[in-house]
Amino acid sequence: MPLTQATEADLLAMQAQLGRPMRDVLAIAARCVCGKPLVVQTKPRLASGEPFPTFYYLTHPALTAALSTLEGAGFMATLQDRLAGEPELQAEYLKAHQDYLAERDQILPVVELEGISAGGMPTRVKCLHALAAHALAKGHGVNPIGDIALAEIGFDPKACLCKAVISS
Ligand SMILES: [Zn+2]
Repeated sequence: MPLTQATEADLLAMQAQLGRPMRDVLAIAARCVCGKPLVVQTKPRLASGEPFPTFYYLTHPALTAALSTLEGAGFMATLQDRLAGEPELQAEYLKAHQDYLAERDQILPVVELEGISAGGMPTRVKCLHALAAHALAKGHGVNPIGDIALAEIGFDPKACLCKAVISS
């Protein structure tokens, strides 16, 4: 999905999604079909001075919850095993890692974050939220593990995820 400017309404929507005020926002990297933010792009170094590796952060509670359930069910170990056995997947995952670093460095290289991307890339599967956020931001075919996780939870880019959250 293309990056879009974070409006005041987006900042408030994300504050409601995450339960905390938003800081150091660069842009919205993916949106629900209804327009609500799904993924926020955050500055690699926060205004506080702290390095922040998670360039793409998942904000939507429905996706966060679904991925947490998947993690709780042991799906990360399944993906780790697949990664170990599939050289092609390994190569794609490494490329996703390199793309992530290149994009973040283009905004601002942070010496403490050199070689550190997110979610366990390039060889581990440690956070499906970070990997799915990258996959949503870049579109299908960039982060293979994020793509698999989104498929596993039945993510449908044409369906609004917001209503389920409100009614649950
Ligand atoms: Zn929605």
